[in-house]
Amino acid sequence: MKKNIAIALTLLSAVCAQAQEKKYPEPEGMRPGMTEFWTPQRKVVTPGDIKTNSAPSDAIVLFDGKNLDAWHNGNGGPAEWIVKNGVVTVDKTKGDIVTRKNFGSFQLHLEWCVPADINGEGQGRGNSGVFLQDKYEVQILDCYKNETYINGMTGSIYKQTPPQVNAMRKPGEWNVYDIIYTAPVFKEDGTYLYRPRVTVIHNGVVLQNNTEILGTTEYIGVPRTVPHGDGPIRLQMHGDPSKGISFRNIWIREMK
Ligand code: MG
Repeated sequence: MKKNIAIALTLLSAVCAQAQEKKYPEPEGMRPGMTEFWTPQRKVVTPGDIKTNSAPSDAIVLFDGKNLDAWHNGNGGPAEWIVKNGVVTVDKTKGDIVTRKNFGSFQLHLEWCVPADINGEGQGRGNSGVFLQDKYEVQILDCYKNETYINGMTGSIYKQTPPQVNAMRKPGEWNVYDIIYTAPVFKEDGTYLYRPRVTVIHNGVVLQNNTEILGTTEYIGVPRTVPHGDGPIRLQMHGDPSKGISFRNIWIREMK
């Protein structure tokens, strides 16, 4: 009996050895071209002038120093802030201004300047803001030697996420914002499938790095979930008594 078992095991191990020796095709060797895509070729975009930060060729110019034709007043009438010498200055008696066009995800460039003789302190000093899709505020404030709550500083997602650093230029000097915004996606029940996200670069310094926006900007209370589609850019006229700030060179590129 033991002898039979030994023979059987020997035969089995011979079969196994045979199976192990069976050769299968090896994966084909990779060649460089196997991971290189050629189509569709990318559209050519002529960049703006590096000295003036002028708009790239595929941007929608929202303010080029001449007029506010791309904007209306927050209440629907014509935009009435003061356009002079290539710059638009907040008129504190006229309310916010809002783009006529709605946007989804985008890259936004704008430059803003706090008056050299700004008055006030804290949130009452050069306060404005950029509302993305009319819902989410990236704060603008004179934070040059002017402390406030950190989630209300320049470059904060207002009342949500503070900026990583304070990269503010002095009053009288121009600040540059480059804002890269990814629009939210909503579920059928109106809650977020993907919340909005934003990167804010201020004077070449990253303040927000693909930060998740929690919900709408609320002065009092927590962010809310409000389903929406494309929306405009809103520039804030803040009601504090300090002098109005100025803007120039505003352009936007729509993104997928
Ligand atoms: Mg503000």
